[in-house]
Amino acid sequence: ALTAGIVGLPNVGKSTLFNAITKAGAESANYPFCTIDPNVGMVEVPDERLDKLTELYHPKKTIPTTFEFTDIAGIVKGASKGEGLGNKFLSHIRQVDAICHVVRCFEDENITHVAGKVDPISDIETINLELILADLETVDKRIGRVEKIARQKDKDAVAEYEVLAKLKEAFEAEKPARSVELTEDQQKILKGFQLLTSKPVLYVANVGEGDIQDPSGNPYVQQVHDYAKNEGAEVIVVCARIEEEIAELEDDEKKMFLAELGIKESGLDQLIKAAYSLLGLATYFTAGEPEVRAWTFKKGMKAPQCAGIIHSDFEKGFIRAETVSYEDLIQYGSIAAAREAGKVRLEGKDYVVQDGDIMHFRFNV
Ligand code: GDP
Repeated sequence: ALTAGIVGLPNVGKSTLFNAITKAGAESANYPFCTIDPNVGMVEVPDERLDKLTELYHPKKTIPTTFEFTDIAGIVKGASKGEGLGNKFLSHIRQVDAICHVVRCFEDENITHVAGKVDPISDIETINLELILADLETVDKRIGRVEKIARQKDKDAVAEYEVLAKLKEAFEAEKPARSVELTEDQQKILKGFQLLTSKPVLYVANVGEGDIQDPSGNPYVQQVHDYAKNEGAEVIVVCARIEEEIAELEDDEKKMFLAELGIKESGLDQLIKAAYSLLGLATYFTAGEPEVRAWTFKKGMKAPQCAGIIHSDFEKGFIRAETVSYEDLIQYGSIAAAREAGKVRLEGKDYVVQDGDIMHFRFNV
């Protein structure tokens, strides 16, 4: 499964946020085949559509889909030079598919800031620079060798060299790989390098308890927004301490607590959704009497591959999929009514599954 890594300087609230994630954790009875590493927090993906489908089908069971966060503790200034067990942490970042970068936006005299004062932009740049330096090292190791082969007019090596040279230039200007403009073919080459700064990022502004109702009054949050905008990245505002409390509540209590705070959706729920879409993930549903269930797929996947997420036999023996969009199903109120209106389609093996599709797979065993 794809995972988003939680990174940030010490004392910004990463562990607090990760605790909230593990406390909110997915109900393990629903996911019996998942074994989880202590650094991984598995949460259910909040989805209002699942509630609506449950009202429609009255199933015995409703099962949300899940998402995994990985806790990557301990990155400090100097990590790319191996300081503070730096290389180990960098290698953990290498294994995640996206980065949730937690930034301290709360003041608290009792909690030491590693750089002496709260300054989110400087914090972001400190970490980003470590990642850039690590990537520069990766590129430097490779570029000399590739240049030699490229001189012998090897076409692939020439193409690779061009990408490496562009990246090196960006890194030397302290810019991340994701900011470098590349053609589609060059993007493919880039993938092969497994760079840290080519991973998609979102910023998590951790504010104090007093700011959660109206974060716009917090100047640090504004700074993070401006910085992220420049990078085309998203910002989620959370109060990690409050998220930890919310995560322990039952659904009804949680709704009441959020209403009291005057907020619609918890920061953690917003973060889960944002990380999910940052990774290009989407949801399809299976729905019936016994069970209504959400399934995660990667946007662009075709029907047989999506069937394979449920069981590999479904993919092997795939014949067709009976499909209706969530909107059509809700509009017509039942699968029978949707079918009468011609909204239930029979799709074949080339059908690209859409977010919100309700799928019924037909297959040979
Ligand atoms: P980490 O080193 O990034 O994992 O940071 P921690 O999660 O251990 O948090 C460092 C300290 O900041 C702890 O004492 C937390 O209780 C505190 N902290 C975290 N989030 C908040 C917050 O939203 N408000 C306040 N006042 N303190 C927080």
